[in-house]
Amino acid sequence: MTEAVVIGGGLAGLLAARVLSRHADKVTVIEGDVYPDGPQQRRGLPQGRQNHMLMAGGAEALDQLLPGTVARLTAAGAHTLRMGRDLLTLSSEGWFRTFDDESYTIACSRPLIDHIVRGQVLSDGTVTVLESTKAVGLTGDAGRVTGVHVERADGSEKVVTGDLIVDASGNRSKAPQWLADLGLPTVTEEYVDAGLAYAGREYEAPVEAAKDFPGVLIQTVPGTGLPGKGAAFMPQEDGRWIVSLIGTKGGQPPTADEGFLEFAREVRDPIVADLIGTARPLTEVRGSRGLANRRRLYHKLPVPDGFLAIGDAVMVLSPNYATGMSMAAFGALALRTRLKTHGLRPGLSRAVQNDIAKVGLGSWKAASTTDLFFPEVRTNITVRGAGMQQNMAARYARTATANENVLRAVYEVSSLRSPQSRLMSLPILAAVMRGPGKPQLTSDQAAAQFPQIGELFQHGIHRPGLSNTGA
Ligand SMILES: Cc1cc2nc3c(=O)[nH]c(=O)nc-3n(C[C@H](O)[C@H](O)[C@H](O)COP(=O)(O)OP(=O)(O)OC[C@H]3O[C@@H](n4cnc5c(N)ncnc54)[C@H](O)[C@@H]3O)c2cc1C
Repeated sequence: MTEAVVIGGGLAGLLAARVLSRHADKVTVIEGDVYPDGPQQRRGLPQGRQNHMLMAGGAEALDQLLPGTVARLTAAGAHTLRMGRDLLTLSSEGWFRTFDDESYTIACSRPLIDHIVRGQVLSDGTVTVLESTKAVGLTGDAGRVTGVHVERADGSEKVVTGDLIVDASGNRSKAPQWLADLGLPTVTEEYVDAGLAYAGREYEAPVEAAKDFPGVLIQTVPGTGLPGKGAAFMPQEDGRWIVSLIGTKGGQPPTADEGFLEFAREVRDPIVADLIGTARPLTEVRGSRGLANRRRLYHKLPVPDGFLAIGDAVMVLSPNYATGMSMAAFGALALRTRLKTHGLRPGLSRAVQNDIAKVGLGSWKAASTTDLFFPEVRTNITVRGAGMQQNMAARYARTATANENVLRAVYEVSSLRSPQSRLMSLPILAAVMRGPGKPQLTSDQAAAQFPQIGELFQHGIHRPGLSNTGA
């Protein structure tokens, strides 16, 4: 009988468990937390209180792993926001214009995503979850991991053995230490920490804005010598809005109600403050700190048989780039592909760990290089030609403010449907060299591309210069 054990029943762990359940006779998930009955927040997922965008690439990967997920999310009230039509975006170099395009992101609460994924993974009884059970170490030796030491809430301890142990315990995973305890070398860890912090709050959407309301993104600007400050505003299910305010070191948002609205007004454009100014808050303001880019280079280890790390336990990007849930799904797909040809035989771990490292590499390079340009950044990596890359990234964003083809490519890459190389195609490069060639939209022109925003302001908030007509 073959057995797989997954440490952590978050998104990455549950998706890995589903994949493994098609290849192992028994799959057990060790979860320190207790799952809520419905789409509610839980202690083990503190980031669930912040805005979470599920990018198109990740949504499609989720549907490959668990067919019908996106339909279920939509039926439960998630909004599919077309990036070209339903997002008002102030990029680092100016407002984006609206246009017809296929890239999209799904906007809903993080607890809803987890609830639907959990329901599907656990519905057929092939995966067992041990809740309130914490992994505290591994058993085996440097050549083969054989099990997990666990502690239960009642204080009892035992070892859960398996042919494959998957670490999906997230950003704060202790697996590097556990592997060192078995005699393995230290896992190299790279980080770029701009001191990013989030502060999030949910609101009741005004009745006039309960349906088909756009999302608003005010992106941070690297390379100015000043802290990055931004905001993400998204419609959620059940007529709710979520706002996450974002700031890097020296410009972090307040983590209490006091000052929240003022910070929203101080970011590069006050539109998010205008939108929430008269909306009824449904929650307290909740902060998230310690949001660095970090990756653990497991693929450089002599990866022992029987061990695999996946999801945030391997790589975390600054949430500004909204990639984490998609990476969890891509990792599970990589595992599924290898399992099909390799099964649970020795050598699987090393092969999958290499695949997972490759899956995230493009996003890692883009995110970590950008974040090097915020003040007081802490890092242990150097990126050759980082300044040139940053200048090019600014040129892309500048051109994208006026050129649909470039913006389409930018959206395809940021929605994780295309690799970074999409930006290097000759027509795109040529357009970026020519530059935007059109004047930038003013903030009122940008907002006026969305009649829903104009209508809302007519009902309540007065914004001088804003009309219902397209820009
Ligand atoms: C502020 C913020 C905003 C974000 N916004 C986005 C976004 O817009 N889009 C996006 O795609 N991603 C976003 N992310 C990233 C996303 O939240 C993560 O990438 C994703 O949750 C990773 O899933 P995971 O399963 O790897 O880890 P986690 O979600 O952290 O799950 C780990 C699980 O392991 C359990 N666990 C931990 N230790 C143990 C242990 N010792 N024993 C047993 N169980 C254990 C925990 O209880 C938890 O259930 C954001 C993250 C943050 C912090």
